[in-house]
Amino acid sequence: MSSISADTAENTIKINFTDLGLSEPLLKAVRDQGYDTPSPIQAQAIPAVISGRDVMAAAQTGTGKTAGFTLPLLEKLSQGGRLNKSPVKPNNVRALVLTPTRELAAQVSDSIATYGKYLNLHSTVVFGGVKINPQMMRLRQGVDVLVATPGRLMDLCNQKAVRFSQLEVLILDEADRMLDMGFIRDIKKIISLLPKQRQNLLFSATFSPDIRALAKSMVNNPLEISVNAENSTAEKVTQWLMAVDKKRKPALLTHLIKENNWQQVLVFTKTKHGANKLTKHLEAEGLTAAAIHGNKSQGARTKALASFKDGRVQVLVATDIAARGIDIDLLPQVVNFDLPNVPEDYVHRIGRTARAGNTGQAVSLVCNDELKLLWDIENVIQQHIERKVLDKFIPVNELGESRAIRSLKAKKPNNANKKKVEHKDGQHLSKGHKPQSNNGNKKRRSRPSNNKSDNR
Ligand code: AMP
Repeated sequence: MSSISADTAENTIKINFTDLGLSEPLLKAVRDQGYDTPSPIQAQAIPAVISGRDVMAAAQTGTGKTAGFTLPLLEKLSQGGRLNKSPVKPNNVRALVLTPTRELAAQVSDSIATYGKYLNLHSTVVFGGVKINPQMMRLRQGVDVLVATPGRLMDLCNQKAVRFSQLEVLILDEADRMLDMGFIRDIKKIISLLPKQRQNLLFSATFSPDIRALAKSMVNNPLEISVNAENSTAEKVTQWLMAVDKKRKPALLTHLIKENNWQQVLVFTKTKHGANKLTKHLEAEGLTAAAIHGNKSQGARTKALASFKDGRVQVLVATDIAARGIDIDLLPQVVNFDLPNVPEDYVHRIGRTARAGNTGQAVSLVCNDELKLLWDIENVIQQHIERKVLDKFIPVNELGESRAIRSLKAKKPNNANKKKVEHKDGQHLSKGHKPQSNNGNKKRRSRPSNNKSDNR
């Protein structure tokens, strides 16, 4: 297994998009996007994918990973295109991209349309939460690239609406999140339906032993790329926290937004209920706010996101799952209204800001009963988060001290106790995990379950 680190890439001569083996229609689409230079993951992944190699990449969102696999994929599919090969047959797909959430699926699909606009390739996207029939119709003529969430893809397979005999490339995007969400069985089942001879690309923010085990069963002599140390926070994010009493969090958030004149703020809450309640509070305070979470229809989520992107909504309040995949250029401000139960989610959350080399700020409002979560997070990111104080909001229930950072130990696979309890795209849960650790340095946990309903 060969591997290249980001440092290696950055220390070599500057690479241009024209050096990577992409043809003019793709280079033109890249120019249209205004990109000057390939990001480290693009510089490494694009030539490898075009050459036909399997790739395993440790890359968070914000590193340019989507273009890192989309550009070479489109290059390959257009090279070996319809002129040379038999045309794609009805209901067949040539490349399959699996993503954990609907939002990410929609976003990857948008990227394929953006980068593939000068090519004559056909792609479509399928996910749960919307009618299946139009998706079946779109698949009928066959597609070059299908982007899908695992649950809906399984439904389509069961209805014989998708066939894989012509499949050439499989891409798993945000594989760690798919495992966290309990998609492992679906993924294994889907892989078992694919031709053995194919190219495999696996992208994951973190490479836990679970992911490595999956990769082992899937990839063949892959190029291993790492553009960020495991679980490291995006370098250009300024992080700080404010200790505050739980009850006063809404008032503190409103104060921070108004005082600092934050124009576009993504706020994370732990629960759907919490997201709704906070949105109402912000609206009552005269701010424009919208909530996105698993109980909202796909239409409502898309609308909220569009309003947030174009500035009509100033504050978007989201749960972790709903926010996964959100890509907003220059998103300056992320707020953790609640700390996440799963410390790695902190990394994903703050990865929403400072994307693609921009700077950003991530602020956490922390009350005293979240201290253990804070310890876990500080261990995962291997640093203490700076604390700031506002006289008006000094908590009555003091937030305890941070602990000394412990070095991260190797993690063991914990597949055994994961059971899928819900089967709905973007809302899988794992069962049998403690919601919170008393130990500041635990091995990675899956998401806590809340009986049968997804509470996020
Ligand atoms: P991703 O990590 O794929 O979610 O991409 C994060 C953001 O980076 C997206 O908004 C992309 O449009 C942008 N991006 C991707 N590649 C580049 C590049 N080479 N230069 C500048 N921005 C880029």
